[in-house]
Amino acid sequence: MAGYDYDIGVIGGGAAGLTVTSGSAQLGAKTLLIEKEKELGGDCLHFGCVPSKTLIKTAHVYHMMKNAGKYGLPQVDAPPVDFKTVSDRIKSVIGVIQKHDSKERFCNLGARVEFGEPVFADEHSVRLNGKTVSAKSWVIATGSSPFVPPIDGLDTIDYITNKEIFYLDRLPRSMIIFGGGPIGSEMGQAFNRLGTKVYIVDRGDQILGKEDKDMADTVKQVMESEGVVFHLNSSIEAVKHLGNENEVIFKDSEGRTARLSAETILVAVGRTPNTHGLGLERIGVRVNRTGIEVDQRLRTSHRHIYAAGDVNGGFLFTHAAGYEGGIVVSNAVFRLPRKADYTYLPWCTYTDPELASIGMNEKSARAAGINYSVWVEAFENNDRSLAEGEKIGKIKMLLDEREKPIGVQIAGPHAGDLVSEWVAVLNGKVKLSTLAAAVHPYPTIGEINKKIAGTFFTPKIFSDRIKKGLKFFFNLKGRACGPEPFEE
Ligand SMILES: Cc1cc2nc3c(=O)[nH]c(=O)nc-3n(C[C@H](O)[C@H](O)[C@H](O)COP(=O)(O)OP(=O)(O)OC[C@H]3O[C@@H](n4cnc5c(N)ncnc54)[C@H](O)[C@@H]3O)c2cc1C
Repeated sequence: MAGYDYDIGVIGGGAAGLTVTSGSAQLGAKTLLIEKEKELGGDCLHFGCVPSKTLIKTAHVYHMMKNAGKYGLPQVDAPPVDFKTVSDRIKSVIGVIQKHDSKERFCNLGARVEFGEPVFADEHSVRLNGKTVSAKSWVIATGSSPFVPPIDGLDTIDYITNKEIFYLDRLPRSMIIFGGGPIGSEMGQAFNRLGTKVYIVDRGDQILGKEDKDMADTVKQVMESEGVVFHLNSSIEAVKHLGNENEVIFKDSEGRTARLSAETILVAVGRTPNTHGLGLERIGVRVNRTGIEVDQRLRTSHRHIYAAGDVNGGFLFTHAAGYEGGIVVSNAVFRLPRKADYTYLPWCTYTDPELASIGMNEKSARAAGINYSVWVEAFENNDRSLAEGEKIGKIKMLLDEREKPIGVQIAGPHAGDLVSEWVAVLNGKVKLSTLAAAVHPYPTIGEINKKIAGTFFTPKIFSDRIKKGLKFFFNLKGRACGPEPFEE
């Protein structure tokens, strides 16, 4: 690495950047990690996955308290939520995880960590805190920020995004959420459960727009039954500050002008890549509306500069960022050409019920022109779901023309955990017959995975042809009960 200070320089200490840093340092590459905030961990730890899942759990417990009667327990009158205490719990969970992402830990692994905002001076070096630092390869892993749409009046009010929502001093009385995507839906249900009156406005005809509508509607119906109010097919036109509240003016699904007012407005309409201020224009790294352009090996328009995680605008998940970090290490450190493959990248929205997905759904299969068949199994037929009082939802499996599974969606209890079995089945090319024959513990919600595979085989195994064959070979005598005589 003659001439360069480092083998690899990483910009951004979130899921993608930390994966690259830890991998390359442990492989012996001289590694520099640069983070602009005071702490490592990125959005997932401070403003994303960790606080949201902590909040969702708190809201779930409160919801269970309020619904104790449904479980044969005395109905309790739960006192109102003190959001400051909820927020303190969120901070304490983050604090514990933060220790895993400390500067010292990465130093022990062999990487140098610097804090500051680097700007590319040329293709191999950045200016950082008044110094020039060079590296043979660079990785841009600066993540994404909430996209704030150009809505009339929005810049005149104190709206919130995922950056503020976990750190509020008190529970808002009411909240209008712009966007019914994963963040809007998760936060909408959680705050509604905690006692905020929640309205969700989205321009689409369904929430969770990437998902099949029937699956997303399962979640929406539960949220509606709990009191969340949806305005779909609606476009927001303006926002006004009205003393203690904010008013939102929008065109509703009928094209009429409608108004809503609430104390708080949460903007959750999408993400924008953090590319600003890095000097990418100067060195000619190509950026489009969704993020830094990369090839399948995650190389930018300069082959020694990689972009991993949210900043490349692909799949905006922590596990996608981690996966991409591994791809970069293979390409940049091992020099083993490795392409990212998202065919079986799973994801989950942590509403109740959860909605998890892997592979193709009906929307993407139709868009790709693939002929498929759909197999469905309802949670209301799963004994454990009934025992748990969690019978809403279904699993949907798509098979291609050769009867091979191409995707699974699960809307139901623990969907995010249930989809893991399909991660193994699809990546490992496990036959459906193997899954159908494998013994699963009873009573578990996971039995639904075996059941749906069995549903596919049932008509084949118990067909008239098989029955006739068995009668012919073994002289079986047929039905012992029921109105229909065995067909001769
Ligand atoms: C509310 C919410 C809930 C979410 N829940 C989930 C979930 O349940 N599961 C899931 O998989 N994903 C979830 N996500 C998405 C997940 O947080 C992101 O996909 C993930 O954080 C992306 O990792 P990253 O490394 O690309 O970016 P980040 O984790 O955002 O890391 C980027 C880092 O770069 C730093 N940085 C930015 N600009 C510069 C600069 N110029 N110089 C130096 N450093 C810079 C940032 O400070 C940050 O530390 C959620 C997101 C949100 C907002």
